[in-house]
Amino acid sequence: MNKEVFKSVFQNNRVRMSHPRLFIYQELAASNNPLSPQELYRNLIKQKKKIGLTSIYRSLDLFESLGVVFKIVNGSNVKYKICEMDDHHHHIVCKKCGEVVELHFCHISDWSEKVKESTGYEVTDHHLNFYGFCKNCKSLQT
Ligand SMILES: [Zn+2]
Ligand SMILES: [Zn+2]
Ligand SMILES: [Zn+2]
Repeated sequence: MNKEVFKSVFQNNRVRMSHPRLFIYQELAASNNPLSPQELYRNLIKQKKKIGLTSIYRSLDLFESLGVVFKIVNGSNVKYKICEMDDHHHHIVCKKCGEVVELHFCHISDWSEKVKESTGYEVTDHHLNFYGFCKNCKSLQT
């Protein structure tokens, strides 16, 4: 997603877009590969940006909850990538290699209706990840 879309997600959720958050976005968007919080920290410090590792962790958590990045966990390695898709979508994560694929469909609205009916809640959003084994890893499983 581009910078304008990224900013609009923050606006729509009434979350402040601070400079550190924008720096993190720019780093992630400029990189073809997923980046770890430590890598982001090193890159930003090199550019003389004032930012702490803790605030990078916090920002990435926030980004994830807003659905603008996804997290790739491979053992104890955690990396983040900016979502390509602008609209609401879900991810499937390979449990073996950590590859993530963005799914452009969501059929959960029916389910939200059921949640609303049974709880009386006003449902505003949802997060759901799928997990499994990618094509490469699937063949290694057997
Ligand atoms: Zn995504
Ligand atoms: Zn895999
Ligand atoms: Zn959905």
